[in-house]
Amino acid sequence: MMHPDITPEIAARMPDLRGRLLANQELAPMTWLRVGGPAQVLFTPADTEDLAYFLKNLPREIPLTVIGLASNMIIRDGGIPGVVIRFAPRAFGQITVEDGYRLRAGAFAADRKVAMAAAEAGIGGLEFLYGIPGSIGGALRMNAGTRSNTNPEIEGETRERFVSATAVTRAGEIVTLTPEDMKFVYRSSGVAVDTIFTEAVFQGFARAPEEVHAINARVQEHRERDQETKVRTAGSTFKNPPGHSSWRLIREAGGQDIRIGQAEMSKKHANFLIAHDGATAADIEGLGEEIRRLVKAKSGIELEWEVKRVGVPA
Ligand SMILES: Cc1cc2nc3c(=O)[nH]c(=O)nc-3n(C[C@H](O)[C@H](O)[C@H](O)COP(=O)(O)OP(=O)(O)OC[C@H]3O[C@@H](n4cnc5c(N)ncnc54)[C@H](O)[C@@H]3O)c2cc1C
Repeated sequence: MMHPDITPEIAARMPDLRGRLLANQELAPMTWLRVGGPAQVLFTPADTEDLAYFLKNLPREIPLTVIGLASNMIIRDGGIPGVVIRFAPRAFGQITVEDGYRLRAGAFAADRKVAMAAAEAGIGGLEFLYGIPGSIGGALRMNAGTRSNTNPEIEGETRERFVSATAVTRAGEIVTLTPEDMKFVYRSSGVAVDTIFTEAVFQGFARAPEEVHAINARVQEHRERDQETKVRTAGSTFKNPPGHSSWRLIREAGGQDIRIGQAEMSKKHANFLIAHDGATAADIEGLGEEIRRLVKAKSGIELEWEVKRVGVPA
């Protein structure tokens, strides 16, 4: 599905824009699930100031969506109307070590690379990021974290290490956010959805590099043993309801036996969904809704999507 090209109208309002504006850009190849239609406009800002200039001059009625590495996202088959912002690694992927066992990372730095940089620098506490296949921007929005019933050393959550973030508001103001501003809760942040993170600072502690590398390796082992790592998925599909595990509720409701089109739930980890070749976003979202229906019927519990669903149906 093609959207009307509004890039000339946007460009005309922003003579000093340095980033790249593209009409009708395919997004599926940029996502973990490899599904979904195009962005009406894809904007790649040159740097934080360019992003601020863009947002200040973007008419308020044009919808705005930001994507990171799209490892927690279903983009619907009709694509995303309005502007999609996606960073380039050169401008937003830098990682620097600071005094006092701190790391500063751009919002498009991959979580895994941040964990590797921490290991090199002898900084402990960020190992949980090693197994999360997203970016720092996504980690801030999702309060990404790792849980383990068997090994506490691989556990952690973004909020525990967070010091501050730089972000740009929808009005184009560059702001610094404190832990209180972030309003972190389980797998979410309360910051306005149209505020875009550009970098963050994390606090770790002294730990010998070889020890951090060894914990990173154990994070990887845990993933390979308990989760799907080699198929198209989006991680945990649903949040764990208080006092329950989504995977157990799904398994007990028979959710692992159903398939919709080319999408099915994993046999290895019942809360992971898998997109096979030819899957559409409608298959995947339909599967998720069917799982919610089954779980509600069996246990009375309403599962809440952890995966973000964006855009419009075909
Ligand atoms: C195999 C696999 C395993 C996973 N395991 C885990 C796990 O153990 N723990 C866990 O927490 N998650 C896990 N996930 C989910 C996912 O990796 C995380 O939620 C990750 O933090 C998402 O980052 P992302 O860059 O891919 O964000 P996206 O999927 O691109 O976006 C997610 C949300 O973040 C927002 N966002 C992205 N960048 C920015 C930004 N710069 N500013 C503001 N908002 C932004 C988006 O708008 C969207 O709302 C897993 C996913 C997969 C595929």
